[in-house]
Amino acid sequence: MYRTHTCGELSPDQIKQEIKLSGWVQKSRDLGGMTFIDLRDRFGITQLVFNMEVNAVLCEDARKLNREDVISIEGEVAERSNKNPRIPTGEIEIIVKSIQLLSKSKLPPFTIEDQTDGGDDLRMKYRYLDIRRNPVKNNLLLRHKMSAASREYLNSQGFVEIETPCLIKSTPEGARDFVVPSRMHPGEFYALPQSPQTFKQLLMIAGMDKYYQLVRCFRDEDLRADRQPEFTQIDCEMSFVTMEDILRTFEGLTSHLFSQVLGKTDISFERISYADAMKYYGTDKPDTRFDMRFVDLNQIVKDKGFKVFDQAELVVGINAKGCGAYSRKELDQLTDFVRRPQVGASGLVHVKCNEDGSYKSSVDKFYDQKELKLWAETLDADAGDLLLILAGETGKIRFALSELRLELADRLGLKDKSVYKPLWVTQFPLLEWDENSMRFHAKHHPFTSPMEEDIPLLKSDPSKVRANAYDLVINGVEIGGGSIRIHNKELQKQLFKVLGFTDDEAQKQFGFLMNAFEYGAPPHGGIAFGFDRWCALFGGSDSIRDFIAFPKNNAGKDVMIESPSVIAKEQLDELGLVLK
Ligand code: ASP
Repeated sequence: MYRTHTCGELSPDQIKQEIKLSGWVQKSRDLGGMTFIDLRDRFGITQLVFNMEVNAVLCEDARKLNREDVISIEGEVAERSNKNPRIPTGEIEIIVKSIQLLSKSKLPPFTIEDQTDGGDDLRMKYRYLDIRRNPVKNNLLLRHKMSAASREYLNSQGFVEIETPCLIKSTPEGARDFVVPSRMHPGEFYALPQSPQTFKQLLMIAGMDKYYQLVRCFRDEDLRADRQPEFTQIDCEMSFVTMEDILRTFEGLTSHLFSQVLGKTDISFERISYADAMKYYGTDKPDTRFDMRFVDLNQIVKDKGFKVFDQAELVVGINAKGCGAYSRKELDQLTDFVRRPQVGASGLVHVKCNEDGSYKSSVDKFYDQKELKLWAETLDADAGDLLLILAGETGKIRFALSELRLELADRLGLKDKSVYKPLWVTQFPLLEWDENSMRFHAKHHPFTSPMEEDIPLLKSDPSKVRANAYDLVINGVEIGGGSIRIHNKELQKQLFKVLGFTDDEAQKQFGFLMNAFEYGAPPHGGIAFGFDRWCALFGGSDSIRDFIAFPKNNAGKDVMIESPSVIAKEQLDELGLVLK
């Protein structure tokens, strides 16, 4: 027997009891005749004491121990004279009677402390040591809590967890597939699922009614910061539901997670259409913890001789509350910010609303005080506020202003991490025109149903068709998305046609699904949540990597096991693969 208790549970209740503990040596301190060791396991830290006068041999043994050695000890629980209120076991210590060394440790390449001296690469290479540290360990515990609470809620609502295969055929979700060569069928390949989309729809046709799965998905996308080639979804599908049923069900899931994981019970859900999200926030994932809505100024700024505004498709502004006293330098910083290539605006117009009721702007040459006052009123500005205005092509300018809005929120400290604002974004466009391929792409995926009233537009003006699709956004982070699906073969065929598939191609790629539609497909819809991102949001971090036990780095590599890696020539031969 290695232990009677964990290192996180002893309290004054066990004083005088004989106990056994096992764990890692966190650190030891020699204080004259006494040696103290902090013994650590996943559950906590317990202080061990050795007294030179009571047992010199044992004390010498203790002094020989190094950080991260694994030991087992027997001893008696005693009250501490020097109590530590910051840890749960801080009122007791163990007077050790025997030590057993279970496993020696080399000197770790970085310190196993909350604040470590290890750089990112080193910590990834020795991820098993990194996980011993509280911040990483706690993230994994939070993740576990999230998955357990998700299952708890979905089970309580009659969902059934069903596994779908990992070796499949491509499903078009817009990214590249990872493929796996088939040894038995040389020249043929499986694809790893980008999501179980078609399988969950087939499960609805199969009559399973409510499905979920915490499922690994794979997307071979170009590497961007904080993307992982494999990630986890909470994937769900329901039969005989409208969008309203789905939103309500998953508001339930979201509220459950908030209360179980963060102890928050006052969560409410807002809704906004895609069109309004773009109009008021310039993005389909607005952070609504703060207002700073866009105000369209087209009607009031034109024809005063200022070319930039006159020629612009859109002139749009925000009110930076309380920033009227910004210095030249601060205004220059904002201008530099919007001019960055990633933001893309060519300049920034500002109007300071002075405390004395006058206005000072960067376009005073073209606009008088009366006109600036009208702008200020339109933007709901008071004395002391700052108007920031961009002009240009609608899409570009909305994007740039949305970035500026977020930058200002950072500067003004408006992104309160303890506040959560869930928002459903609905009525997405069904299709997106792609200039490169000169054809439409599905904005969500090709199985998404158009809104009933827009179906006639599929023939006349496909770009105007709105989808029965929805995203859940929390604090500007897209947490999940889904849609009501097409469940009718003819409509699905029509959509594939709009997407540029010939009947033959559609049949070849998706015949299995369209054929299934002919055997009684119930109306159905669903949603999938990005589980890693949700964990990161709840953990107060921007990085999903921190919430994955063994993540890949930004170059898509696992530096611990060194993957991807080359494989032997024999293996290639067996798979019928020849490297160029
Ligand atoms: N399969 C979709 C995705 O991965 C989600 C859904 O439509 O349910 O984004």
